[in-house]
Amino acid sequence: MSLGTSFLEQVNQAFDRASAYTRHDPTLLANIKACKNVFYTSFPIKRDDGRIEVMHAWRAEHSHHKLPTKGGIRFAPDVDSEEVQALAALMTYKCALVDVPFGGAKGGIRINAKQYSVNELERITRRYAFELVRKNFIGPGLDVPAPDVGTSSREMAWIADTYSQLRSGELDALGCVTAKPISQGGIRGRTEATGRGVFYGVREAVSIAEDMKALGLSTGLAGKRVVIQGLGNVGYHAAKFFQEGGAVIVGLSESEGAIANPRGLDVEAVMAYRKEKRSLVGAPGSTALARREDALELDCDILIPAALERQITQENAPRIKAKILVEAANGPTTPEADDILDQRGVMVISDAYINAGGVTVSYFEWVKNLGHVRFGRMQKRFEEGAYYRLLEAVEDVTGRKFTPSEIDRLTHGASEEDLVNSGLEETMISAYHPIREVWKQHGGKANLRTAGMIVAIDKVAASYEQLGIFP
Ligand code: NAD
Repeated sequence: MSLGTSFLEQVNQAFDRASAYTRHDPTLLANIKACKNVFYTSFPIKRDDGRIEVMHAWRAEHSHHKLPTKGGIRFAPDVDSEEVQALAALMTYKCALVDVPFGGAKGGIRINAKQYSVNELERITRRYAFELVRKNFIGPGLDVPAPDVGTSSREMAWIADTYSQLRSGELDALGCVTAKPISQGGIRGRTEATGRGVFYGVREAVSIAEDMKALGLSTGLAGKRVVIQGLGNVGYHAAKFFQEGGAVIVGLSESEGAIANPRGLDVEAVMAYRKEKRSLVGAPGSTALARREDALELDCDILIPAALERQITQENAPRIKAKILVEAANGPTTPEADDILDQRGVMVISDAYINAGGVTVSYFEWVKNLGHVRFGRMQKRFEEGAYYRLLEAVEDVTGRKFTPSEIDRLTHGASEEDLVNSGLEETMISAYHPIREVWKQHGGKANLRTAGMIVAIDKVAASYEQLGIFP
């Protein structure tokens, strides 16, 4: 059985488990679960040395109940049809949970990006974008990709440019892809959005005294011992925000190995060391672990897998010591491991909710692209003027003069980044409570993952019911 097939089964099992708690018609549930379109293409590219290589690439659109569809593009050696379908389905449930008005999609090319030069990657990305355009699998109102494993804003800029060249004159062309560089229509705060969203979501979950008491933990992030697997886009930013939020990072793992320090690792120092030595092993103030997987089993309060799917399995789940597992990666826990963690009373904050920060800010970027104006541009100075006049009035009434630094702080008008972070914080906090309520309603029978899936299914089902069937 391939890794991809199992991952698709994993997502579908989570869906089936949650559907059993709902009262929706079985055919409606079957319709929601099924992936609507899968596009496969193979194309040749020329390597720098003149050799020709054949690429295999996919794009899956899981649900069209809301358009456009939305989801990342990954460059990884084990991408296949089932994997993109599983990830596309997760995107549908994720968007529903955080009220982002998109259906789910996902794409990928089966390559190890590290084995290609930048020029080769550009040729691969642009040809993939060209194939997507030809088959109507990309467009601001159709399907809007974003980065995922092995891709970043660089690839998104190439995609946006390829699309714009092919659809010259299309006014909203820049909305065809998100997480672009700022100068290419991107939005401030997108790069760190997923990691920041993980931080906001966990901060909210650990603020609830009743739930923390059940785990034998105090409320708040301060002093919580955290282990993070993967220091890519999501893992690095999550690590940074947790450290800034007062948590103690006691373990970090990457593809080359893992390190620990029960008194805490400094994330920036580890990153700087890794950049120089191309490995985090040996970073100052750390002890190297025998195997990179050992980090998952370190003594800690919060474990954050932020690398790849299927990292917590029935083999290592019995040895996980964390009380809270935070699925920053997509699908890091197998269903068998999930059952073991459930029996052991581990609180699992699942991927569909906790890593939704990226798609939330991608939605803000798409709205910005369609509006053709930067958030904050119209009101920032106006707000500052209004606050300033208010301070002057307070000074007149009280006779007290504000210092220049107080004036700066109190009259600050919202910039694009302030608005994005505020919208993200609001989204992650307000999305958590309906999930928790369903979890509590089922009196512990359905865990948090299932509760999240129930909330998502209810929302998607409501859309399908209102839409009816065409023709
Ligand atoms: P990335 O490629 O930037 O980072 C992944 C990191 O994990 C890399 O640094 C890689 O070296 C490391 N890694 C790979 N195998 C490992 C292993 N066995 N042990 C430890 N480290 C390992 O990718 P990313 O964008 O950070 O995505 C990570 C996960 O988060 C994926 O599951 C992705 O689908 C999910 N995700 C990403 C976003 C986003 O906005 N980028 C949003 C939602 C979910």
